[in-house]
Amino acid sequence: MDIEKLLRELRVLQEGHFVLNSGLHSRYYFQKFRILENPDATSKLCRLIVEEYQNKNIDWVIGPTTGGIVIAFDVARQMGVNTGFAEERGGRRIVGRGFEIEGKRILVVDDVMTTGKSIIETLDAVREKGGDIAGVAVLIDRCGVQLPFGYYATYRKVVENFEPANCPLCKENVPLSRLGGK
Ligand SMILES: [Zn+2]
Repeated sequence: MDIEKLLRELRVLQEGHFVLNSGLHSRYYFQKFRILENPDATSKLCRLIVEEYQNKNIDWVIGPTTGGIVIAFDVARQMGVNTGFAEERGGRRIVGRGFEIEGKRILVVDDVMTTGKSIIETLDAVREKGGDIAGVAVLIDRCGVQLPFGYYATYRKVVENFEPANCPLCKENVPLSRLGGK
């Protein structure tokens, strides 16, 4: 499967001159909802996560809200295990809703790894409930920095972000692109 081709066709991977939520500029933008809205494509990539972890005795698959819920659900469905999520509550992330994960082997998943913040919060929330982290996996890894844990990604692309004052696209007067789907 040519994942980059798929991501471009679905307009998940967009090329242009983008202002990210962080205020930084970038040549690439990942619009994750262009894949999450397509169950067949999402499920194909989730299959790769399933294959990576199918012999690891996973009990639960948990992702951070919002997109992580979709990924966790489909990976868990294909594995035949339970699924839950970690949600924001009072400025932190928790695994609530009565999900009984104490002593269980948890695979933590998400759609796009950008800074790792949501995953790190989810790992903390799972450990707080006594869950045992058995692995971490994402569909798209666009995080260019080393994170304090290993993880599997179905697709990786290191994307450079620029301070507006040092943005080469601004220097070339490339017009700003609209963020897709907004
Ligand atoms: Zn720029």
